[in-house]
Amino acid sequence: MSHVLAAVAWPYANGPRHIGHVSGFGVPSDVFARYMRMAGHDVLMVSGTDEHGTPIQVQADAEGVTPRELADRYNRVIAEDLLALGLSYDLFTRTTTRNHYAVVQELFTGLHRNGYIVPKVTTGAISPSTGRTLPDRYIEGTCPICGYDSARGDQCDNCGNQLDPIDLINPKSKINGETPEFVETEHFFLDLPALADALRQWLDTREGWRPNVLRFSRNLLDDLQPRAITRDLEWGVPIPLEGWQERGDKRIYVWFDAVIGYLSASIEWARRTGDPDAWRRWWSADGEGKDSPGYYFMGKDNIVFHSVIWPALLGGYSGAGSRDGQPGDLGRLNLPTEVVSSEYLTMEGRKFSSSRKVVIYVRDFLERYDADALRYFIAVAGPESNDTDFTWAEFLRRNNDELVAGWGNLVNRSVSMAAKNFGAIPPVDPAGLTEADEALLAVARAGFATVGDLIARHRQKQAIGEAMKVVAEANRYLSEQAPWKLKTEADKPRMGTILHVALQVVSDANTLLTPFLPHSAQKIHELLGGTGVHAPMPVLKEVDDLDGGPGYPVLTGDYTVGARWESVPLPADRPLAAPKPVFRKLDPSIVDEELARLES
Ligand SMILES: [Zn+2]
Repeated sequence: MSHVLAAVAWPYANGPRHIGHVSGFGVPSDVFARYMRMAGHDVLMVSGTDEHGTPIQVQADAEGVTPRELADRYNRVIAEDLLALGLSYDLFTRTTTRNHYAVVQELFTGLHRNGYIVPKVTTGAISPSTGRTLPDRYIEGTCPICGYDSARGDQCDNCGNQLDPIDLINPKSKINGETPEFVETEHFFLDLPALADALRQWLDTREGWRPNVLRFSRNLLDDLQPRAITRDLEWGVPIPLEGWQERGDKRIYVWFDAVIGYLSASIEWARRTGDPDAWRRWWSADGEGKDSPGYYFMGKDNIVFHSVIWPALLGGYSGAGSRDGQPGDLGRLNLPTEVVSSEYLTMEGRKFSSSRKVVIYVRDFLERYDADALRYFIAVAGPESNDTDFTWAEFLRRNNDELVAGWGNLVNRSVSMAAKNFGAIPPVDPAGLTEADEALLAVARAGFATVGDLIARHRQKQAIGEAMKVVAEANRYLSEQAPWKLKTEADKPRMGTILHVALQVVSDANTLLTPFLPHSAQKIHELLGGTGVHAPMPVLKEVDDLDGGPGYPVLTGDYTVGARWESVPLPADRPLAAPKPVFRKLDPSIVDEELARLES
């Protein structure tokens, strides 16, 4: 057994999340964490909402609320959606906790002490009416290269050139139309060039990463520049240095604080368990955590933060880099073992866009369909290693032809027939098992090694494919053995044996599918007469801030209970529950209804 960190990307709290988001970071990380726990590992799965930065400030201003009020609203919405999907976070928290502030400031201080954070005076754009930094993408003007009149401060979408906002002709703020002022302002920069060699050496030791992630990350190292980590903004974590801490107008930049959330959430989780040092078992590079792997789940647009920036922060804090240095109070920290990034999900051939209504929010989806129907679609057809398209027609087909007609039908007919004829799990006939019986049982048992290995290597599409092959084999077995034809008293023992074998395989397949379909796995466990928790679920809990800030909701749970990753023999004569369908067949008319909704 080992300690395994599942670090899941932090959703930004400026609105509800759509199914593209949860396809990338949410469901895959939960499948992995659930499997690893079932296989006996001690998993710590953490995340939370990312709540600082200009977009939240701007949106709050537009709505006439405080950034905190806006963040409160969407933190709760997002936590409830992730709960409804059954994502088994040990802690899903947020970046506005006092604990998070303290951990961010500790990393800042350690990096600064080791010489990896340096001050620099630069020319930056500010809004004259608010005095706040105007981020590059909030500035629009005429491209100095091609003359396009809606070029953004960071790049021109017409000619594709990277731009500096000061070079735009007639720059305007996209927030309120005013002309930005370019002023000299002092900020802190992360000295990435001083950490580049250490990063390169570390990347060279990485194994098993998806090749595109490794190639992309290596390319970034060739051109690393110091990166600003503070902003002229009131909404964010204060800068923990004398003369800066009390200033109301300068804050740590949101990307720097959010990525530290993995660590601060782990520390918060430990503090809440009453063993405040417990997080070290997943993080300490020297002590008990030194062999603990950490897996980071995200969409591909976030790779740079996890394969370059976050390792740079962890390394610099730990004293690795061209300026050396000493680890801070938290000690030397583990760098990511693997960066598991997904590709993009599109929607009926188009990019998701909340503003253009090309979107399906998680909440809306779950109002009309079951969580496991979405989880199944994401597992078999999600953007694991290619951009993929969500279409309602494909969702309908996957649900009806595979989930309902394949898996649901196997469960339904074997449980119903056994319940009707025996009322319990029938015993095996003393005459014993036939070759066909043994062969099917062996296929199911072999699934544990195959499916488990694929999930551990982040090949979930293949993994669920293998589990569904067991289902298909069992359906074929039932059709061939045709127990419904064994009607006489003399035939009954053989009928019992066939149904015993079928139910055993239903039970095994159910365990194989539990990481993917936890809600239905619990129901099927109960249909088979099982009691207790088979697939543990998260709970939403209102908690106090540990350090005196305002309270907030967290997702957490007890995942020490539940099925293990193994075949468990079904006891003969255990009563079966009254059969009822586990999955819902959808009417084909939903396709047109949903497309109409999209267009409206
Ligand atoms: Zn241009």
